[in-house]
Amino acid sequence: MTQPTTAAAPRPLEGIAPALFLPMGVDGVYARSALYVRVREALEDYITRLREPGVELLRFPPVMSRRQLEKSGYLKSFPNLLGCVCALHGSEASIRAAADRHEAGGDWTAALAASDLVLSPAACYPVYPIVAERGALPAGGLQFDIEADVFRREPSLSLDRLQSFRMREFVRIGSPDEIVEFRERWMARAPRIAEELGLPHTLDVANDPFFGRVGQIMAVSQRQQALKFELLVPYFAGASPTACMSFNYHREHFGVTWGIRDARGEPAHTSCVAFGIDRLTVALFAVHGIELDRWPDPTRRALGL
Ligand code: ATP
Ligand code: ZN
Ligand code: MG
Repeated sequence: MTQPTTAAAPRPLEGIAPALFLPMGVDGVYARSALYVRVREALEDYITRLREPGVELLRFPPVMSRRQLEKSGYLKSFPNLLGCVCALHGSEASIRAAADRHEAGGDWTAALAASDLVLSPAACYPVYPIVAERGALPAGGLQFDIEADVFRREPSLSLDRLQSFRMREFVRIGSPDEIVEFRERWMARAPRIAEELGLPHTLDVANDPFFGRVGQIMAVSQRQQALKFELLVPYFAGASPTACMSFNYHREHFGVTWGIRDARGEPAHTSCVAFGIDRLTVALFAVHGIELDRWPDPTRRALGL
């Protein structure tokens, strides 16, 4: 059976969803199928092969220190997206009483209190305090290969906007020159990556979705300074393109916040190149279909499939 694919088709991704994602009862939260994981792992290995020499690998859990994220300034920019880990604290009696309220058909969550953890909203936040602990940067700065399953409170029915998704990042910490050169190198590489994977793409300046009215001003300023670019992939003909990678220049924000100094003693500059692993994986299925043996040869070769 062949399915007509037209630009006007509503939710054209619905056809491929059952092969990739199993619902878990909440919008934007899914179990991944074996087929999905096979391609995601191939993509991860592909990215590993792109890694430059001298890069330090770190893998983070899906939670991080609430204090550290607060200090990073996240609440100024994206308070609406943050998930905080809450728990029942206190005596055995008070915890039992709260749990029993649920058993009695009541609300146990009123007794929850914030813990010292948040769900990481991006992979790179925990690396800066780790680097700060090590003292001044070595000459030439540092580069990391980082990954975490992250959380953002943006429930959606759309397969490209999940609440829990995987983010892989190459993070560069160093002098302004080193950072600018790093980001430009990856922005030049990104279209070649998309071509190898057989994905239609554009690269464009972008802004973060800063919260509220003040956020709109921050977004304009971010665009004017060209601090963020995105690799955009249309999932189907006529689709508004999805950001699958981002190239972020934080200037001296994390260097000043955490007291990281470059080899000359100046506040370090930082940049991260983020791969939206789930968005890229969905893009591969959306563009090439769910039958791997019908994917274009160059794409299969690139991914070793
Ligand atoms: P968008 O504007 O589409 O929400 P973003 O600017 O918030 O994207 P970044 O903060 O740059 O995205 O995150 C890095 C990458 O993580 C994005 O380029 C994208 O590929 C991926 N990503 C971001 N939000 C989501 C989401 N809700 N679901 C899946 N992947 C996401
Ligand atoms: Zn980052
Ligand atoms: Mg977003």
